[in-house]
Amino acid sequence: MNDSGTSRHVVVVGASLAGTRTVQNLRSLGFAGTITLIGAEDELPYDRPPLSKDLLRSDWSTDAVEANRLLSRDELEALDLDLRLGVAATALDTDARRVSLADGTAVAYDVLVIATGAAARPSPWRPASGVLQLRTLAESRAIAERLALGEPVVVVGGGFIGTEIAAAAVDFGCEVTVVDPVAEPMTRIVGPHIASSLVDLHEQRGATTRFGVGVTDIRGEAGALTVVLSDGSELAASTAVVGIGSIPSTEWLAGSGLTLENGVGTDAYLRARGASDVYAIGDVARWPHPERGMDVRAEHWTNASDQARYVAAAITHSASAPFESSEYVWSDQYDWKIHTVGFRTPDGESIVVGDLDADGRVAVIHADGDGNACGAVTVNWIRALNQIRRLLASGGTAQSIADQLQAPAAVVAAPARKEA
Ligand SMILES: Cc1cc2nc3c(=O)[nH]c(=O)nc-3n(C[C@H](O)[C@H](O)[C@H](O)COP(=O)(O)OP(=O)(O)OC[C@H]3O[C@@H](n4cnc5c(N)ncnc54)[C@H](O)[C@@H]3O)c2cc1C
Repeated sequence: MNDSGTSRHVVVVGASLAGTRTVQNLRSLGFAGTITLIGAEDELPYDRPPLSKDLLRSDWSTDAVEANRLLSRDELEALDLDLRLGVAATALDTDARRVSLADGTAVAYDVLVIATGAAARPSPWRPASGVLQLRTLAESRAIAERLALGEPVVVVGGGFIGTEIAAAAVDFGCEVTVVDPVAEPMTRIVGPHIASSLVDLHEQRGATTRFGVGVTDIRGEAGALTVVLSDGSELAASTAVVGIGSIPSTEWLAGSGLTLENGVGTDAYLRARGASDVYAIGDVARWPHPERGMDVRAEHWTNASDQARYVAAAITHSASAPFESSEYVWSDQYDWKIHTVGFRTPDGESIVVGDLDADGRVAVIHADGDGNACGAVTVNWIRALNQIRRLLASGGTAQSIADQLQAPAAVVAAPARKEA
């Protein structure tokens, strides 16, 4: 069915990557009905990955900020939207098919797309000032202002965002300490081989790592903070940036009848469980992953973008096949470009191709319990990444993929430890 949809009203809640890409795709697929886009932030839609990378390090000129918009004002106007920025959705009534907004108004829908993403997991430590977190443009700017002082910074959380902030802080000339209760914090995402190299990288570039030890308190105020660690030691800092994960933005859906458990539960077609004509996409959605055999909530740019495209097509043409994620994630750590595709399983082996120290690049191919390739991580090796993506799509063993990469397979590494 190809439906220009003039009689239908699509309401999209959340005006960031997933929401914006949904409305763009709807229009490019010929949807001619009314589209309402609702966003809590009083900002034209912007991209988040640069908030911990290029933009964080930038001069924050108007040009730098505007270049980070997901679309220009002209492009936005051409979409002919009923645009409601700066107003949050506060409730959903799926029987009446109505979304209530913080300004006291309500919007009726024929089709609803929930794209409210996630928020930074709140810091448990809240001194009067000096503790910052990162999810929004304003928060990135606030962190940049503190880093520009060149004073000591403690980053709590050694995940992608925390370590990207740490790398930026080193570039700003700050004395930086990264704290995380996990000994090699990135292991779950990139596997033990690269996680271990990342710890070395931070140390080599001048950050101090306190991994395997947690934070129990942060006292004081901006410029004079004391970060107390679980081993009893204390770190003095001017600023602390707390990056301890995120939580899906579902508060407004309480009582809606949707399945809310670490996000909005959907079926394999991204249709929210518990209502009809309601989809959930992006960081807020938790959907059944066919290969992993479990429900997954992915917090990655490409996933949000893929799901927006899929749902726009489902609304205009109806979906014939379940959603499939391209499972692609990247991170910049200093001058390292890290890319992951697919996934890794705790019981599978990983094959390392290349040598970071000798060649400055490496690829690690993950196998599932049967030896079949299910994912990979590359560092500074785009050609291998592209090759692996093609080979993963056509199936085969991890060893066969390793053999096809030009560099010889060097090490066969089983998982080194049980991970946290
Ligand atoms: C600092 C940072 C760096 C990142 N770097 C990378 C990276 O290198 N690689 C990668 O793959 N991914 C990265 N990501 C993740 C990526 O940005 C997200 O996966 C992506 O933004 C998800 O898009 P989304 O639209 O689903 O959710 P979000 O971007 O979270 O947007 C949700 C929007 O909904 C709004 N909203 C929430 N509640 C309501 C409500 N009740 N009513 C109306 N609006 C509401 C929010 O204000 C927000 O604007 C990064 C994220 C951050 C924060």
